[in-house]
Amino acid sequence: MAKPNGIFFFAGRVLVAMTFLAGCGGKPDSPVGIAPPTPHLSIEVRYLSTLSGAQRAIVAEAVNKWTSALKKNLGEFRLNSAANDCFTGEPALNETHHNPLLFISVADIDGPDGRLAYTEICAMSSRDTLPLLSHIRIDRGDIDSMEERGVLRGLILHELGHVLGFVPASYIPKKLAAGGSADPHISGPAARAEFAKHGAWYTGATVPLEDSGGRGPNDPHWRFMVFGDEVMSSSIITGYRSPLSVITLGLFEDLGYEVDYTVADSYEVRPLFGDNLMLPEFSLVNDLRSIAPPAVLKTLTPH
Ligand SMILES: [Zn+2]
Repeated sequence: MAKPNGIFFFAGRVLVAMTFLAGCGGKPDSPVGIAPPTPHLSIEVRYLSTLSGAQRAIVAEAVNKWTSALKKNLGEFRLNSAANDCFTGEPALNETHHNPLLFISVADIDGPDGRLAYTEICAMSSRDTLPLLSHIRIDRGDIDSMEERGVLRGLILHELGHVLGFVPASYIPKKLAAGGSADPHISGPAARAEFAKHGAWYTGATVPLEDSGGRGPNDPHWRFMVFGDEVMSSSIITGYRSPLSVITLGLFEDLGYEVDYTVADSYEVRPLFGDNLMLPEFSLVNDLRSIAPPAVLKTLTPH
């Protein structure tokens, strides 16, 4: 597999992360004492475009779903970058955070249908290899029709999965992916264990990533022909339930989050042939854009 050139070292932006022990209840790496509770994770959402109240409510519900399932102390980090540094329309930043910052915009991508949205990861944590600064762009030509067809919720849930770490820049450095382009799959133990409970019929390497685009483990989606309507599958169809499964949450445990599996929706991996045949309506395969490698926030730890 080619080295993900440029992903981990990027000098174009000055971004500094600092981990503060104050407020954590003690040294998290102390050999004695009780480990401090992992703080609640939130996503700070900033809108760069006008969305209706109903559309914002859909975003808020999706954010709440993910942040109810995941906890993570990302430390404190400083965002310090010029306007338009990562994407057109990005404001200048000079502020401190301890939760991921997400911009959401609505703009023309390709008109009705085709591409519905995409996510850009602008900055990653060097310590946790997880995204810290992201942007979701929703196609102006699709947002209202997606809302009317009932797929906007599933789309936002899906893009948030990328925003929180279902991206190659997170799982490849953690050695959670294997299989090359022939049979890409996530090899993390928690994801595999959850898949085994809910997809015992599948005899291939688990957990299968999308293989139709030929990008191997760099395609950050579950394989549609195995996963069907699961929220991190590579396609979306009107009428989709888009369940957030324990399998996806297993991957997030493998990525380093503390996970509450009770938040997951009911889901079973089912063969997509015969009575269960589904055809993809809209592909999400290319919805993770990498115009430039994400900046890496250097975490200053006590050691
Ligand atoms: Zn996607």
